[in-house]
Amino acid sequence: MNSFPLGAFIICDDGLDLRLSVARRLGITTAQILAPGPDGRTSGHVQTLQLKFAQAGVQITVVFCGFAGESYADIPTVEKTIGLVPEATRAERLREARSISDFTRAMGVDAIGLHIGVIRDEDPVAYHQLIDIARQLCDHAAGNGQRVHLETGQESATTLLRFFRDVDRPNLAINFDPANMILYGSGEPIPALRLVGEYVKSVHCKDAKWAAQPGLEWGQEVPLGHGDVNMELFLGTLKEIGYVGPLTIEREISGEQQARDIEEGVKLLRSLVKQVWGQSE
Ligand code: MG
Repeated sequence: MNSFPLGAFIICDDGLDLRLSVARRLGITTAQILAPGPDGRTSGHVQTLQLKFAQAGVQITVVFCGFAGESYADIPTVEKTIGLVPEATRAERLREARSISDFTRAMGVDAIGLHIGVIRDEDPVAYHQLIDIARQLCDHAAGNGQRVHLETGQESATTLLRFFRDVDRPNLAINFDPANMILYGSGEPIPALRLVGEYVKSVHCKDAKWAAQPGLEWGQEVPLGHGDVNMELFLGTLKEIGYVGPLTIEREISGEQQARDIEEGVKLLRSLVKQVWGQSE
């Protein structure tokens, strides 16, 4: 694998064959996937998935956890429903995340990822509970030889950095999504990337425009290069922090427009990789 292979975020549902054929056509050689539900994590499904990805020449780099009951309807709903933060579902979701870690090991992949939920350090009790649960997940993943990648954006980089130091586990890492910082109004993505750079082990190449009232309402996710991230500066900053790894395009729409936007994103990244790193991806 070269230093900056192109990747895409791929959902393994009925549309998987089509998505893999698009990836192959575009020369995308890595993918992050959303873990299938429990019924799709049997050994038979593991073999089928491994075969499909191998035939497409696509290496899975991170398996993301999603949980029943999560909703991204608006920012307050995200606070209430996402990840391991909501207390009512925490124990059950930790079990699910451990099971996904076991599935990930069976798939031969060395990283799981998740939105842990909105980290709030104003409430010391809730904050320390979240530290404890993050340690439990990291320790389980470590037993499977894996890192745990937390997706950025739902809190400021300062809070995230404090959380990483407090959890204090060597296999805890960051999946840096610059667009999320804008979508959630959590701060300027480039300074944030510099601040947490030492922990960044994977990235989402995604773009967005700021909301009129950042943090109160969603910004708008847009095709790569059309938003406020500044992709050239993003890649330049990845170079600055010494990042080596896949450039995983995420476009959170579906259908033919998604495939067209990913194709344009691939072209943009190829030219920027050449410009910033002086090499072909
Ligand atoms: Mg993302």
